[in-house]
Amino acid sequence: MLYCPAMSNFRPDAAIVSEIVPSPNHSERRGVTRPDMILLHYTGMTSAQDALRRLCDTQAKVSCHYLVFEDGRVVQLVPEARRAWHAGVSVWQGETDINSRSIGVEIANPGHDFGYPEFPADQIEAVVALCRDIIARHSIRPQRVLAHSDVAPARKADPGERFPWRRLHAAGVGLWVEPAPISEGPALGPGEHGPAVRELQAALAQYGYGIAVNGVYDEATKIVVVAFQRHFRPARVDGLADPSTFATLHRLCKTCASA
Ligand SMILES: [Zn+2]
Repeated sequence: MLYCPAMSNFRPDAAIVSEIVPSPNHSERRGVTRPDMILLHYTGMTSAQDALRRLCDTQAKVSCHYLVFEDGRVVQLVPEARRAWHAGVSVWQGETDINSRSIGVEIANPGHDFGYPEFPADQIEAVVALCRDIIARHSIRPQRVLAHSDVAPARKADPGERFPWRRLHAAGVGLWVEPAPISEGPALGPGEHGPAVRELQAALAQYGYGIAVNGVYDEATKIVVVAFQRHFRPARVDGLADPSTFATLHRLCKTCASA
């Protein structure tokens, strides 16, 4: 409450919320009556309190619905009925107004620029409980629980390859398939072109990534492969479509089709 202007208060939407700290940075959802996506972020700042201050700063023009502290405390900043400003320029399944369709969850972590520590267990437990609550109330499908880096791969790396997606999936949150083991073998990479590149791009686009299917392994393709690996094949994040990346992507598309 210290850092935010006194806006009209509201009741928490999720049971795990311990405090309301209203942010002024929100607007009306456009074209959707209820959110059908959860977008997970890390704050990318050394202090969670600084992040909270920024998420409430009128000048910064950013916000989220929930902020999860390292110790598992959950603060709500924006009512779920409102459009919080967390996604920025983004695309998923051809939709570009991700803020209107999503619930934004910021997870306090300094991120890649500041040493990228592991996410504490208490924090992840809180993220799981919060997401389960949101998923149940809005019937959000597993494949619609996404990373900021999934919808904005050229700009964002959060919550990053250390985020435990497997653990979330085991608790009923999000889609996950066991990554195919990494083996040495021919990998597609920048500069290559042809049907195999086109097949890769088509599968990534089918899953939801904003990628042109042009048969050329351009910089944009590499960037999307990096985003895919951060989420689904985190053991090696290098932007090269090696056999494990291909196999994991195929498993994922198959699972998604039957989900
Ligand atoms: Zn983010």
